[in-house]
Amino acid sequence: MPNELRCPKCTADMKQGYVLELGEAPLLSVSQWIAGPPEKSSFFGGGLKLNKEQYPIKSFRCVRCGYLESYALPPPNPSFKKLADSLTN
Ligand SMILES: [Zn+2]
Repeated sequence: MPNELRCPKCTADMKQGYVLELGEAPLLSVSQWIAGPPEKSSFFGGGLKLNKEQYPIKSFRCVRCGYLESYALPPPNPSFKKLADSLTN
């Protein structure tokens, strides 16, 4: 993913944000990208079965025309971040 994004429609700057998922109130969360086709679960009242391969969706919005472009990248490894923080402090 490039550091600075240009809108593929109008070439203006794109600003990072995220797509909010409205779950059961008051739970709010970032939408996730899930690998594979949606499958029904035999648990949880027949809701969707969640594959383990899932990534938070990072979305960018064009400041001029509103075009959205999304990326689903693996979240940073928390244990690696903890190690990096301990080495720099
Ligand atoms: Zn645009």
